[in-house]
Amino acid sequence: MDSFAALRQDRDRFVALAFSSADVLLELDGEGEVVFAGGSTAALLGMTNDDLVGRPFISVVALNDRAMVEEALAISGVGARINGLVLRLEGVLGTTPPMLMLGYRLAEMDNHYFLGLRLGAADAVAFSAPNSEGLMDSGLPDSRTFAKLAGEKLAELAYEQGECELTMVQLRGIDDLRQRLPAAGRKSLNQAIGGALRASAVGGELAGEIDSRSYGLIHHQDLDISILVNRVADIAREADPEKTGVDVGHSTLGLDKAIIRKGEAAKALGYIFTQFAETDPNEFSISSLSDGLESMVDTTVHRISEFRTILNNAEFAIAFQPIVDLQTRRPHHFEALARFNVESGNKSPYETITFAEQAGLICDFDLAMCAKVFEWIDRACMQGHRYKVAVNISGSSVGNPTFVSALHRLLQQYRGHRDGILFEVTESAKIKDLGKVNAALQSLRKAGHQVCLDDFGAGAAAFQYLRDLEVDVVKIDGAYVKGAQRTAKGVAFLRAMAGLCNDLGIATVAEMVEEESYVPFLKDCGVDFGQGYLFGRPSFNVSDFEAPRSSDRIRKMSRAV
Ligand code: C2E
Ligand code: MG
Ligand code: MG
Repeated sequence: MDSFAALRQDRDRFVALAFSSADVLLELDGEGEVVFAGGSTAALLGMTNDDLVGRPFISVVALNDRAMVEEALAISGVGARINGLVLRLEGVLGTTPPMLMLGYRLAEMDNHYFLGLRLGAADAVAFSAPNSEGLMDSGLPDSRTFAKLAGEKLAELAYEQGECELTMVQLRGIDDLRQRLPAAGRKSLNQAIGGALRASAVGGELAGEIDSRSYGLIHHQDLDISILVNRVADIAREADPEKTGVDVGHSTLGLDKAIIRKGEAAKALGYIFTQFAETDPNEFSISSLSDGLESMVDTTVHRISEFRTILNNAEFAIAFQPIVDLQTRRPHHFEALARFNVESGNKSPYETITFAEQAGLICDFDLAMCAKVFEWIDRACMQGHRYKVAVNISGSSVGNPTFVSALHRLLQQYRGHRDGILFEVTESAKIKDLGKVNAALQSLRKAGHQVCLDDFGAGAAAFQYLRDLEVDVVKIDGAYVKGAQRTAKGVAFLRAMAGLCNDLGIATVAEMVEEESYVPFLKDCGVDFGQGYLFGRPSFNVSDFEAPRSSDRIRKMSRAV
């Protein structure tokens, strides 16, 4: 008997030895069909070992994991290992819990695959396979979810599995390629790309879709990234009717244990992903990107810790800007606007707020700002002034139950100032779950606070927000207010917005009222309040403005529906 035949004969023993702790053992032929099955397939899948023989292995893999498994088989070159992918199987008994798959492809065995699948992988990081909710067409989580998932897993990984690296992959020309494909072709292209990334990622899980052309994955240091890059290029070329494919750029970065230890990995990654997605593809070059990535990590980690210090020490100030009743021209209430770097003057906080939003720190900031404003109201009250102040809170904070309950706890301490505290929901584009946000808004209204939807009209879904969120006041985005001064179309939009709010019994504020000429026109459109440089620029000193005479709540229920 030659050595090849001996090996063949010893197959069962070899498999058993190689994967002695596995629950299911499989041998697949070069085409991925099961030629041998062992282990507890009956209990897991409702199929005996013999039932499995002759079936394509992929047919018993859960739908979500198929693209990944196909890609893992496709790229595991002869002699290469399939190293700890987490997947679920799908049998007649339903989907199994996550299983850890290890395997080899052996030239001596006709290029067959030998796979071991184990439940409850105790000696590896136990990943939960992502469920289909929140996954993109590629089967990958979106940027935010990926950052969160990766952040949570990185600390464990750093200690249990050695150094990990982050590779960002950019596919130039992929959007054009998608345009060339029919819907079904587009979907299978996206799935194959997602599968290839997952197959190379730690646990078959730590990969994400940053935007339509950018992807990220966290992988072991010893992964040969060129295999993945070539594979993705092949997938795109094969899918392309013109066979042009895409240009694959990539950049790898060692994940410094520093970010992991500081426990800010999710935030740093989230910010980096957003920045990456904003890189102009024309300016993209691999070396600049990798320099960029490295310094981005440093800067981000530094900025996050700086921002934390600002929060902990409450190193920011409040500027006030009046919202005036257009009929009486008197301030009705003030909007509180955050100001950082007070020394450098009354500078817009926009950039810092955007950073906080992208780095997932906005809830902490919104709560700190609320605390500061409530304290200010309380102090002013003790000095005999009853001010009404609107605080901005980001849509993403309102959607966060931890923030909402912390805010309610804080409000409890200021129960006497219900009428004096209003809220403006900014960045409504960040709202994911309108039902949840509306419930939070109603809990604030029930506690006696009026709620305003800020920047109305600024996003595409404005009317949907208005339909699904019950609010007292709507602030019409400054762009519409200014637009109405210039074009007939602008006038029509402003009238329609104000009219709709009127019909719904919602009061309206026009933002960015800069000139006197706006006023009669806004009144004519049915707008109730105005805010802007005409009535007063934001100031640290509220006494710069005329004191409001009445402390009336905004009432607009005359035509309420
Ligand atoms: P916003 O809530 O829409 O605030 C109104 C912005 O318009 C303010 O910018 C204000 O200074 C500016 N503004 C007021 N009148 C005029 C005008 O007549 N013309 C022009 N061109 N601009 C005018 P600011 O203070 O730079 O704030 C920018 C944004 O930053 C705010 O927009 C809000 O989204 C956010 N922001 C500010 N403070 C906070 C805060 O405490 N928390 C949160 N979450 N966001 C905040
Ligand atoms: Mg506002
Ligand atoms: Mg606004």
